[in-house]
Amino acid sequence: MATCLFCRIVAKEVEADIVHESDDVLAFRDIDPVAPTHILVIPKEHIDSARAVRDRHAELAAELFQVAAHLARADGIDRTGWRLVTNIGDDAGQSVHHLHIHLLGGRRLGWPPG
Ligand code: 5GP
Ligand code: ZN
Repeated sequence: MATCLFCRIVAKEVEADIVHESDDVLAFRDIDPVAPTHILVIPKEHIDSARAVRDRHAELAAELFQVAAHLARADGIDRTGWRLVTNIGDDAGQSVHHLHIHLLGGRRLGWPPG
């Protein structure tokens, strides 16, 4: 998937402010943050969205959540609260078709979301 933006970030062809990297997961700060903490946690493997997650991704899915929790602690928002969001499809406003979980925090987050 050479044309996928997030695959290109994984391949280090596009620069990003990377805050965590393991064999299977990458996390980097969103280029257009909507909260003081706005990090994208992604699998290195190209998966279109949460819609395409399968049984074989079970360990990977767990790691995505664990990395998010680790980064929330690292950014000092574990006590004040944080939110994970993954957009799927047009109505949700998914603009990059490589699975990513937004980690948001550092301010009061409204509910319901827009
Ligand atoms: P989506 O709208 O698909 O849920 O989220 C895509 C996110 O990727 C957006 O929040 C957008 O700001 C972010 N984004 C788009 N292009 C880049 C980029 O080149 N670098 C980084 N770090 N984030 C990006
Ligand atoms: Zn990709």
